[in-house]
Amino acid sequence: MQNFVFHNSTKIIFGKDQEQVVGQESVAYGKKLLLHYGGGSIKSSGLYDRVVSSLKEQGVEIFELGGVKPNPRVSLVRDGVALCKENDIDFILAVGGGSVIDSAKAIAAGCKYDGDVWDFYTGKAAVTDSLPLGVVLTIPAAGSESSAGTVITNEEGSYKRATGHISLRPRFAILNPVLSYTLPSYQTACGVTDMISHILERYFTNEKNVELTDRLSEATLRTIINNAHTVLEDPTNYDARAEIMWAGTIAHNDLLDTGRIGDWGSHDVEHEISGIYDIAHGAGLAIVFPAWMKYVYKHDINRFVQFANRVWDVEIDLNNLEKTALEGIKRTEQFFSSIGMPIRLEEVNINEEHFDEMAKKGTERGPLGNFVKLQEKDVRQIFNLAK
Ligand code: NAP
Ligand code: FE
Repeated sequence: MQNFVFHNSTKIIFGKDQEQVVGQESVAYGKKLLLHYGGGSIKSSGLYDRVVSSLKEQGVEIFELGGVKPNPRVSLVRDGVALCKENDIDFILAVGGGSVIDSAKAIAAGCKYDGDVWDFYTGKAAVTDSLPLGVVLTIPAAGSESSAGTVITNEEGSYKRATGHISLRPRFAILNPVLSYTLPSYQTACGVTDMISHILERYFTNEKNVELTDRLSEATLRTIINNAHTVLEDPTNYDARAEIMWAGTIAHNDLLDTGRIGDWGSHDVEHEISGIYDIAHGAGLAIVFPAWMKYVYKHDINRFVQFANRVWDVEIDLNNLEKTALEGIKRTEQFFSSIGMPIRLEEVNINEEHFDEMAKKGTERGPLGNFVKLQEKDVRQIFNLAK
């Protein structure tokens, strides 16, 4: 097991009606707040009104910036930074999913920087400080509610890039599973796929002695898998929604990183696809992850055998470990398909046109992943397997 520091400072406030404390939690960071949200789901669900009234009860002055799109754009981030700087905003409240939270984080970092916020995503500058932010989560998926990362798309050049800093970890995150009842099935399934992927990125590691972290990962994966069909068939099942929501946070709050170095190649490969084609991140991962697995499993068959056996209950064939490993990959792919995710690029109308360009762009800052280091030619092969 490798040395590690585990420090996740986000205060998680979990359960029914908990958005009513958002005013109290926010006012601790100042009286001027930017309320950041997406395309309107929070207005139609009535959440917006509840949040605003809780903030007003505490005498908070609210500035608003809605309109965050899935795969959030740097142009809106720049508007948010300007708005916050002009009005001396103290605190940013993100009400929504990963896209809104990541956009809020980018604004928070941009407020403490004189240059262009995109510099953080190209590596030209590093985030060192940011405005404090809080979250009311409406979709369990990205885990951004307690992560230190943010992913933003630059429309110029269709680049989707990530950055991170400890100051970007939300101060609090309110997780009310009831808020996820209104999710369309497709978004629920995209979220399930993303959280599973966050665990798999960490699980496929070259570190051998991480039994506790492995077992915690397997338990979280099994919990997500066990509850996924329930929330799709019975969207107002509180207990199943609650399991999925909490699992989404655990999947990405760094606990499952402890003692090992994760891979993250599949996420980087997926960002090339959603950067150009603007598909949902979870859908892109359902396509990329099985392809990545097929490409790399021979690097450590035993790890794939353990995954097949402990997560999918595949019986280990001691005479044919490869068969067991491949069965685990097949079950993963079948599961994604069973919850309504695409598992091939052709299902989302993506052909070979940009394969070369995506492989080149994806690796221009060096190879991707850690379990196996992927060069440009490897990424190209993964796109081929995902066709
Ligand atoms: P999202 O893009 O935030 O939201 C997807 C869609 O779901 C939006 O159209 C949104 O509509 C809708 N929606 C959200 N909550 C809803 C609700 N309760 N009822 C009805 N509709 C609802 O989804 P996400 O998967 O959470 O975030 C994806 C982004 O996060 C991607 O850009 C991905 O790359 C990134 N990501 C970040 C991290 C990280 O650690 N920072 C990790 C993984 C992924 P409205 O806009 O109308 O609300
Ligand atoms: Fe993700």
